[in-house]
Amino acid sequence: MNILVINCGSSSLKYQLISMENEKVLAKGLVERIGIEGSNLVQKVEGRDKYIITKPMNNHTEAVKLVLDSLIDKDHGVISSMDEISAVGHRVVHGGENYSKSVLINDDVLKSIEECSKLAPLHNPANIIGINACKDLMPNVPMVAVFDTAFHQTMPDYAYMYALPYELYSKYSIRKYGFHGTSHRYVSKEAAKMLSKDISELKIITCHIGNGCSVAAIKNGKCIDTSMGFTPLEGVAMGTRSGNIDPAVVTFLIKEAKLSVDEVENLLNKKSGVYGISGVSSDFRDIKKAAFQEGNKRAELAVNLFNYRIKQYIGSYAAAMGGVDCIVFTAGIGENSAVTREGICEGLEFLGAELDKVKNDAATDAEYISVEGSKVKILVIPTDEELMIARDTKEITLA
Ligand code: AMP
Repeated sequence: MNILVINCGSSSLKYQLISMENEKVLAKGLVERIGIEGSNLVQKVEGRDKYIITKPMNNHTEAVKLVLDSLIDKDHGVISSMDEISAVGHRVVHGGENYSKSVLINDDVLKSIEECSKLAPLHNPANIIGINACKDLMPNVPMVAVFDTAFHQTMPDYAYMYALPYELYSKYSIRKYGFHGTSHRYVSKEAAKMLSKDISELKIITCHIGNGCSVAAIKNGKCIDTSMGFTPLEGVAMGTRSGNIDPAVVTFLIKEAKLSVDEVENLLNKKSGVYGISGVSSDFRDIKKAAFQEGNKRAELAVNLFNYRIKQYIGSYAAAMGGVDCIVFTAGIGENSAVTREGICEGLEFLGAELDKVKNDAATDAEYISVEGSKVKILVIPTDEELMIARDTKEITLA
């Protein structure tokens, strides 16, 4: 059984074709600049040269068509016909309060994803375009929607509500939703496997630290809190996003600094975070180099602030769960930056979390990085949202 996983953005489309017999990625690729001059597709197959096609693609249907053509191409493809695709799994950013699990897509589901577009105006419309493009080209292939928000729907009301007038929740659905749910779910399940424990017995804190960052508290397999909120802006500091600030800063910037609403939105999303603090870059590799090799004080501050805020969440989630058995690091920075993991774990010994610096420095894959006998296990686990989407798609379409 082969499953095509699609992650559709406004002008890009990422895909993977996964064979579910052995969960092997047969091919993966990226289409960029859809509807813009210079559109192209790059497909990678293990052991082969990259397959690159540069040709105009006016819309997502043309992009999906090119993906399918590339997958069945007789020289560069990996399957001989579209009939070898059993189902399609779509990443959908926002499922609002409607979805706490992945779901088989039908017209009603499409309608409710559309209704959630007001909550994710940059993402859901692109996801819908991707779904419709696949529907046009593969009308008889079942499709599943896997939501970034779904895993966090188990949060209790006192965790997801903001202390704002209640009517804002009833009228505008303003509450915490959380994001990166597919990643938090995947790594928490993998952590339970590594610990040889049933997830229902564990208290896990997962730190998804990449360009976007979020931390989640997962008690007995269910998310009870997470750092991102109504939008992905809330929580820890990120590459270019501010994370938590005093909300009064927003009105101050509008009234005193005379910024427009759009300028404030842009500042908080694109000019803040470690980029805004350091003035160097949003890429952690550049910031680390500036901080540790070039003695750049603002880069050092960005690193310290970044680590401190993640540490604060770990402490607060240990309190929220009444303890913690395991802390997981994942995503670009969490998987690759030993110095970041060390900075975050420093001082967490009081919780029973003792990092093994040698193991931490050497970690390259899913591994323990806590010392033998550490009460709280610390793990690095590479995330794999596509595989999680494919697993859900298989389970739902075979049910
Ligand atoms: P993601 O959003 O998960 O793809 O993660 C992207 C982030 O991971 C970027 O900020 C990269 O700089 C960061 N990253 C990737 N490799 C490393 C590394 N070796 N050290 C530090 N950060 C890294």
